[in-house]
Amino acid sequence: MAPSFFNTLSGKIEEFRPLQDNEVRMYACGPTVYDYGHIGNFRTFVFVDILRRYLKQHYKLRHVINITDVDDKIIRNAGQAGVPIGEYTKKYTQAFLEDSAALNIEEPQIVRATDHIQLMAEFIKKLVDNGHAYRTDDGSYYFRISTFPQYGKLSKKDFSGMEDGARVDVDEYEKDSARDFALWKAPKPGEASWDTVIGPGRPGWHIECSTMSMKYLGDSFDIHCGGEDLIFPHHENEIAQSESLTGKQFAHFWMHARFLLVEGEKMSKSLGNFYTVRDLVLMGHKPSSIRFLLTSVPFRKQLNFTFDGLTQAANSVERLRTFALRLQKAQLPEGKSASMQQLADATVQGIESALADDLNTAQALAAVFDMVRDANAAADAGQLKQGDVEPLQKALQKFDAIFAVLHDDDAVKVKRIIEWAESEGKQDKISEQARAIAASASVGDAEIEKLIAELQEARRAKNFARADAIRGELNQQGIIVEITRDGVRWRRK
Ligand code: AMP
Ligand code: ZN
Repeated sequence: MAPSFFNTLSGKIEEFRPLQDNEVRMYACGPTVYDYGHIGNFRTFVFVDILRRYLKQHYKLRHVINITDVDDKIIRNAGQAGVPIGEYTKKYTQAFLEDSAALNIEEPQIVRATDHIQLMAEFIKKLVDNGHAYRTDDGSYYFRISTFPQYGKLSKKDFSGMEDGARVDVDEYEKDSARDFALWKAPKPGEASWDTVIGPGRPGWHIECSTMSMKYLGDSFDIHCGGEDLIFPHHENEIAQSESLTGKQFAHFWMHARFLLVEGEKMSKSLGNFYTVRDLVLMGHKPSSIRFLLTSVPFRKQLNFTFDGLTQAANSVERLRTFALRLQKAQLPEGKSASMQQLADATVQGIESALADDLNTAQALAAVFDMVRDANAAADAGQLKQGDVEPLQKALQKFDAIFAVLHDDDAVKVKRIIEWAESEGKQDKISEQARAIAASASVGDAEIEKLIAELQEARRAKNFARADAIRGELNQQGIIVEITRDGVRWRRK
């Protein structure tokens, strides 16, 4: 069954089919590496990861993201810090990769703007040659939007009345100031600049993505995505540049994640509701909870990030992990039951059809939690059989191949972020809760299992003092021990 996705370009939900064979070519705008990424950025990156993982289950995938490592903000910040831009962006590029890994975001092919400057200059030269761009006296280049009558087709804005030749040279601007935009900026004292076929200077932000996406994916490719703020001017400008150059349709599907709100408001430093992934982890929240929360609302719906929501997300992940553990460890009667097989099949189908429906992650999650509830009830009633375990586990795997929250490696990830905070002199930001989560980072599962076996042995021998001592020791190491009717169970804090 072909999936359907909302395409910003057509304004409709459309059936998706790759342009060529069974291969999807997808470009997602990556970070501008001038600071640590915030959870709004990561809403978009997690959405792209869900899309990636879904597509991979059905097609071959060529997926490219860019790192914008030269733009207005980078030049401003590096200048203030008194370091070359390359040095400045290296730190934040690394941070982006680390935060992505912490959130189990798979790594696509990553390309950097500063590795493609000559290609960008050649692109601009061709636009000048075919009349779509012009040079100004200072050596900057602008795209002449009056030469592209379809300008506005993505953002659905009518720009027909605008003044021809009025210019804007900043990378980001509002809709009402749509004017000829900068492709190339002449050198300014103290700013990074490159010598190229069109003279010295540096590229504007928009030409970076057009150049790199077309280099790696071709003139026309399947999907281009990012956050909704990129629709205008960034993606509108990419379309204008690329289609003016090739005369072909650039990306066929445009998919945009709705902006994340925090406690009902736009995230901003002045409101004090601005969080990076690292901030939340140091406050004592697990990367898996953050990922779960970001995935729980379909990408086009408003996601309001709240601390209550984050706690609920943590509980949901715990519920799933406990269920996975129960399937693995429970002593069950032989045989299998038709109802559990059906439940597993229905769940796999439920996840698939939810995701094929414009990536409805909320509905996919509902299917999984229904399964967990029903299978737990069956287990409680003694009706879950050994032969039911495999199909239920398969359904969980189907879910986790997309959502990626079952494997418990939060402790190691939190420990790394604590070490980073210590190295940056941010000790005061590290909560007790974060330290408790990180405590089990250096204890392996085998070591824990050995202590659990000893604990069980002590309980059998009615040596409760010893059993309590082991439990206390495990607790110190960040392990919670629970005595249940299925036996002794443990999990990391
Ligand atoms: P930037 O590093 O500013 O270029 O942004 C990287 C990505 O994060 C882009 O796709 C943006 O659209 C996206 N983004 C920025 N803020 C938010 C937000 N509050 N919610 C969702 N996505 C966002
Ligand atoms: Zn871009």
